[in-house]
Order: sequence, then structure tokens, then C-alpha cells
Amino acid sequence: MTNPTFNLHQRLRVLAFNLWWTWHPEVISIFTDLSPQLWRQVDHNPIAFLNRMTPEEVEMRASELVLHSRINYAFRRLDEYMQKKRAWGALHGGNLNSRPVVYFSAEFGLHESLQIYSGGLGILAGDHLKSASDMGIPLIGIGLLYRQGYFNQRLNEDGWQEEDYTDLDINNLPLLPVKDASGQPLIVRVDTESGAISARVWRLQVGRIPLMLLDSNIDENCKEDCELTSRLYGGDQRLRIRQELLLGIGGARILQGLNIFPGVVHLNEGHSSFAILEGIRRYMEYDGIPFRRAHRRVSQYVVFTTHTPVAAGHDRFPPDLIEEHLGVFRKRMGLSHEEFMSFGRVNPDDQSEPFCMTVLALKSSRRANGVSAIHGHVSRMMWQSLWPGKSEAEVPIGHITNGVHALSWLAPQMYQLFETRLGQVWSAHMAYPDIWEKVMEIDDGELWETHQNLKMRLIRFVRRRLQLQSLRLGHQDTLDQIDQILDPDVLTIGSARRFAAYKRGDLVLSQPDRLAQLILNADRPIQIIFSGKAHPRDDEGKRLLQRVAKFSYDSAYRHRVVFLENYDYNVARHLVQGVDVWLNTPQRPMEACGTSGQKVVLNGGLNLSVLDGWWNEAYDGANGFAIGHGGMHNDAAVQYERDAEYLYETLEKQVIPLYYDRDKGGIPHGWVEKMKHTIKTLGWRFSADRMVKDYAERFYLPTATAVSADTL
Ligand SMILES: *Cc1c(COP(=O)(O)O)cnc(C)c1O
Repeated sequence: MTNPTFNLHQRLRVLAFNLWWTWHPEVISIFTDLSPQLWRQVDHNPIAFLNRMTPEEVEMRASELVLHSRINYAFRRLDEYMQKKRAWGALHGGNLNSRPVVYFSAEFGLHESLQIYSGGLGILAGDHLKSASDMGIPLIGIGLLYRQGYFNQRLNEDGWQEEDYTDLDINNLPLLPVKDASGQPLIVRVDTESGAISARVWRLQVGRIPLMLLDSNIDENCKEDCELTSRLYGGDQRLRIRQELLLGIGGARILQGLNIFPGVVHLNEGHSSFAILEGIRRYMEYDGIPFRRAHRRVSQYVVFTTHTPVAAGHDRFPPDLIEEHLGVFRKRMGLSHEEFMSFGRVNPDDQSEPFCMTVLALKSSRRANGVSAIHGHVSRMMWQSLWPGKSEAEVPIGHITNGVHALSWLAPQMYQLFETRLGQVWSAHMAYPDIWEKVMEIDDGELWETHQNLKMRLIRFVRRRLQLQSLRLGHQDTLDQIDQILDPDVLTIGSARRFAAYKRGDLVLSQPDRLAQLILNADRPIQIIFSGKAHPRDDEGKRLLQRVAKFSYDSAYRHRVVFLENYDYNVARHLVQGVDVWLNTPQRPMEACGTSGQKVVLNGGLNLSVLDGWWNEAYDGANGFAIGHGGMHNDAAVQYERDAEYLYETLEKQVIPLYYDRDKGGIPHGWVEKMKHTIKTLGWRFSADRMVKDYAERFYLPTATAVSADTL
């Protein structure tokens, strides 16, 4: 890869074509130093950046700023990273080194410049790839290239969400066309009863991990199918099944086209379950074995992760859509329509039951898991009827709790502090508890000052965004007024998530007068930053969002309550790095895991959350704050009232007093103690390195070892 004759512009392009740069602040700072304005203008997209700067301009700026050695160093570091032989996977990867894990997901959240994700599921998949890369686990990602991604969110005067879409410009993305053995662009085709759907394939490099993305926007598709991969979760059921057909079956055919033989197929959520059928078909046609045996064989190497604790949230398709799209398949496998449908039915004989993607996956996997202990439990209850005669505890769905890719979410200033205080090696060892012991020795003042700086950074970001919003809406805010918004000395609460009814993003507003007293308190006020999108077709979610937005527009609170539009990777990063408290108020037990609260941990933020998802297993009484005691009520309205009461009480009696208990120098020692305890006890447990290691040890390695000479 290294070519010593590359000029600086070419070297930067090499860096830009591997998303490794997204978790290396020293690379990002090269771009921000070259031109901070341009970097912002291109939305932190280094390829768009380089497309606007000539090699001569880069040389000139780099000379002025003495950047040569930094660019060369980053270039060398990437090269070393790609070669690294001593990674966990190289030492422990066993059979995976010849037969990799293939990881399917409908979305991947890797960076704000690549809008092919909508929320938590995508971010989790992106973090999975990045940690697999860091740990050297042989893995290939498979997903869809959405030309328009998810939507951009704008709020109107009335706080109502409006959506618009922007087209990706392929020339500004680090995508390389995937070629087949003969050097032609690889095209995969899936036959349906109503014609073939085709897609080309792009490759995106995420550190050491290749991510293959299917793109239906090609000439040989009809116009309708060209738009198949335009948007995430955008269309009706027919569009959705066609997307999932492409993802599962098209995705499996990429592997065939490239002669890759997977040791493990990991389905991240049920969207990609059709990959199972493609495996079965191959065995039947190539090895001449009957359906049942082929099905058993495929089930040997499929690993399935479910993410949805709500029954209605699982994809289900009616018989006619299944027949239109999988009829060709069904006939090749020699199954009747009813036999075929039965693989997606809880009750195989119930002809009124639609075809459920989760059921297909659960019936066809070697291992299945939920994404937190509590979610594992909920999933076992939800799917118990698939295993008649087994008690709930015997249902073979376990759990691996999600974690976050630390370096993607950690503020560079915190990174530096850890490097100084925990030693150079800390980042390579962060999945292990020992390295974190020394956090307790960090000077309170030093940690607090670092945190306050990050909070100020967040506040400046919020003000910049609000200024743009104010201009757009034609408001007459002066810069002075904008600069009155938020105060770094005030307890700052962040609350960002998708606006959906069960997430109850408005819980904190449920007693407006009581909240007003907290916000406007003369000595010990609080301030809140909200953010989050509602699904374009979820009007209930949009009303919830509107309620929150309108509260923030109230002139009495404008300086202390804000709503940040267009929650995305970038907004999330600023928020989790700068807040004092991260608030999460889902209706228990509906939060599968929740990962945003994990992102604040290493940055020194404290969680204030209902005991649901990951927080239910993380909270130890001293590493943050719990809302209530984990109680539940059959009546959602009663639970809402109770949780609201607990929330206010915890704020009034615990959070606020501790935050404002300062020494003469203004340092809240009790609070800082909690920050340290949080970092020490939670940092390693809820890192994606720990999560990927769990998948590797418990799922991938045993599977790859058991599966011998099989092909998908
Ligand atoms: C982390 C993240 C999420 C998921 O967080 P939850 O806690 O599950 O709500 C969603 N969207 C963005 C942009 C994120 O960064």
C-alpha cells in the first residue's frame, strides 16, 4: 500500500479512503488545521475536502503549518495498523483466519459523512466493525448503500418535524467498486416471480474490515428498483421485502462472487434472514442434499442477534409478498407454499400467520441472543412458543450486552488525560478492568477542568447550531442573545433519542411547574439539551417531539432549554462528550439495551436512567443515578406517573445537591468521585471491544471450529 513517492495530497487520500481516520483524532486534526472552514463546510468529509483542494494548495498550507511530519506519521501509522500481526484475532482467531465472520446488517453507522444509518442499530453495527478491526477479528460486513440515507430533520416554527433528503455524491465517498474474478464490476441478481432485481457492489474499508454495500441504482434495473436502496425504512412492505431480499440473498451472492467461504454468518437483526435460504439452496443444488439436511447444515453456522423487545417491531410479510419474491426460490427447493411459509411462522400450521423474519432466523441459527440481560429475558418470554415443551429458562436465546467503540466516542482531551494517567497502553487494554484502576488516582481538579472544557465546547456547538436555525426561521436573534444560551457552570442534562412513545422523551416535562422551579432556581439551576428524530410516519412520536420542542421555545426557558435539530453521529458525539448528566426514561422493559448512555461514561458523564437495558446491569448505587427501583406496572399511564415522580425526586434530592456541593476552588469532589467510579466500573464492561470479544469467544470461535468444509 505504501508508495514512498506519494505526494501529500495522495497520502491524505489514502488516509481518507479508510474510515480508520474517523477514530484517530490526530488524523482529523490534520484536516481541521489545513482549513477549519472547509472542514465544516464539507460536513467533516475528507474526500469532499480533498476534491476541493489542489495538491499545490495542500503542499502550500502544509508547509505554512509544518504539517509534513504529522501527515507522514499518520500515513505510517495506518500502514502499521493494517499489517498488525499481534492483534487479538491473529493470536486467538483460529479457524476464522481462513473462514471469516460475515456480518449482515441493514444499516451501519460509521460517521456523519456517511448517512447509511438511522439510529441505534446502525451505530451498534458500525461500532462492531470498528472493534473487530482493532482486535484483528477476520470479519466482512454486508449492508445496503442508501443513496439518500435517512432524512434530515428540520423543525418549523411550531416545533413540528419536517423531513428532507439529500443525495449522496458517490465521488465524495470512500467507495471502491467491487470487481469479479474477470475484472468486471460485480453484479448480483436475485430472481423473483416478477423479474430480477440486480445490484452492484461497493467496498468501504473500515480499518481492517471490508464492508460490502449493495447498490440497486444501475441501468439494468427498472426505475422502481433503481430506487430500492434509496432510503432507510422509507417505503411500504413491498419495498421493504425487496430491500431485505437484496440484503440477504444478494449479500450472500457477493460472497459467492468473490469466492469467500464464511466460517460464521452473523445476522444483526432479522432484516437479513433471507441469507439463510440462499445457503440452503446452495447446499441442495451443489451437494444434492435434501432440504431438511441443508437447513440443518446452514443452521450450524448462523448466529442471530435480536434487538426488538416489542412484538410489533419484528418484520412480518403476508403470503402474497412472500410468494412474489421467494416463489422462484421455493420451487427450486421443492417446497409447497405452505411448507415454505411455515419457516417464518411460530405455529407452522396456522395459515393466517404472516412470515416473520425473526422466526426464520430463530429456527435456523446455532446461537441467538438479545442485547442485554433484561432483553434476553424478554426475548425468551416473547419467543417461548417456538419451543413447545421448553420452560422459559430453557429457551435457547442468551444475551450479549452491547458496548460502544470507545475511541469513536471519547473526546481527544479525555484520551490524552487517560494516556498520561493510565499509560500509553491503555487503549489497547480497555476491554480489561485492571487498566482502569488508576482512574481513581487522577487529580480531581484535572478531571473536572477537562470535563468543563468539553462542556464549553458542547455549548459553543449548540450556540452555532441555534444561530443557523434562527437565521433559517428568520428570527432576529442577536449574537448577544445567542451567547446567553446555556452556561457552563449550570448542571447540564442531555437527553437524545428517537421520539417513539415507549421511550417517553417527554417524561421530564410531565410536571411543568416543578421542572420550571428546577430550571429557574436562583442558586442551583439546571439546563437541558434535547435532540432526536421521530420516524417520518410516526405522528405520535412527532407530537411528543413537538411538545418538547415547544417547551424549549418558551421565552422563560430559552436560555436553559434547547432542542438541537438533526440528531446524528456528529450531534451525538458533541452531546456525550460535554454533558454532566445523560437522561434516559424508557418504559421498562422496552429498551433493548440503549447505547448512548454508554458513550458518556468514558467522557465523565453520569447516567440518570430508568433501570432498563444495559443500565439495569450497570448501576451499582455509586456509578450514576437510578430512576426508581426497577418496578413495573401493567398500566403504562401509572408507570409514567410513578417514574416521573421518581425522576423529580432523584434530581431534587441527589443529582442537584451533589453537583453543587463545591469546595472553595469550585470543585465538586463528591461528583468527581462518582465520575471516576463510573469510568472505572463501566468503561471496560460497556466497550465494544468487550462485546466483540464476547461474540468471538462464545459464538464465533466455537461455531467456526464446529463447522468444517461447508460453503454458503
Ligand atoms: C448512540 C446513538 C443512538 C442509540 O442510542 P440509544 O441510547 O439506543 O437511544 C442513536 N442515534 C445516534 C445518532 C447515536 O449516536
